Amino acid sequence: MHFLSIFLAAIISCYALTPVFAEKSVTMYASDGRTISVLESEVGLYGSLGWYEHIYDVTVSMHNPNGELESVYVDDAPQKLKEGYTYAKSETTQLMFSDDGRVIYVPNVQVPAYMSVNWHRCGGKLDLSRPMVALTFDDGPAKYTDAILSCLEKYNARATFFVQGKNASRYPETLKHAVNIGCEIGNHTWSHVNLSKSSAEDIKSQISSTNNAIYEITGVYPKLFRPPGGAYNGSVLEKANMPAIMWSVDTLDWKTRDTQKTISSVKNSVKDGSIILMHDIHAPTQPAAEQLIPYLLKQGYQLVTVSELLDARKGGAQIGKAYGNGY
Ligand code: ZN
Repeated sequence: MHFLSIFLAAIISCYALTPVFAEKSVTMYASDGRTISVLESEVGLYGSLGWYEHIYDVTVSMHNPNGELESVYVDDAPQKLKEGYTYAKSETTQLMFSDDGRVIYVPNVQVPAYMSVNWHRCGGKLDLSRPMVALTFDDGPAKYTDAILSCLEKYNARATFFVQGKNASRYPETLKHAVNIGCEIGNHTWSHVNLSKSSAEDIKSQISSTNNAIYEITGVYPKLFRPPGGAYNGSVLEKANMPAIMWSVDTLDWKTRDTQKTISSVKNSVKDGSIILMHDIHAPTQPAAEQLIPYLLKQGYQLVTVSELLDARKGGAQIGKAYGNGY
């Protein structure tokens, strides 16, 4: 980008078109893509607040959740390498929020940078210095999922739902509600197959059909998958082409079908960074979740999505890796 020539052209056109008494207005850019127009005399002020006069030479394109291409202005050096690069749907995150209600789309790789300057994922603010826990619910959506979502919403908490593709279309409103309140939808295969015993072709189709079904309903492309039964190997990680999410607290709710035992298993082993495994297809898990959500908040934990947890603690989840006990 030839700054000098553009600068000179701008000056010439400015003098040619602008009455002498009008102060020139300058377009300023923020690293998240916002632009504002300020008077020339104000440029110094905005510059001191982290706005930039010349950032337009480093732009990337990405898909927003509606599948439309958007331009994002990027100012950090590593991203300059990606100038002109179009992010795939699977590489984009849906939304980042600021305290004043602004919403932006950010490539996955940019999320940690934004979080460090006080943007946050989903609907609630995340304090990176405080303990956090990720509740996860597998195998649904099911008839108990809505009640769990209502409880999460009531307490402004979030969780991750690893859904089966075949169940997704049966509960489209449930999935949309989950996304609207900041929950994350993960991929738990189409029909709960053992991926470690599946052919490469079957792994790919189980994963991609589920991702597409979730995207069609919610407009958000899943970023994480959980292999059914926790069964994975190198081939599964490679063919799934998504980060694999295991767990650090196994409530065994599917086995005990006992609300109190599910609650106790969490109380006995939860700690900062825990990924807790539950199943929203079993009736006793609903009241367990409804008691655990306020309990964990009272203990000082922030209830976050798995992506938020891994963004905060691992700088994001990497494709081809599995994250579980102690990550
Ligand atoms: Zn499962």
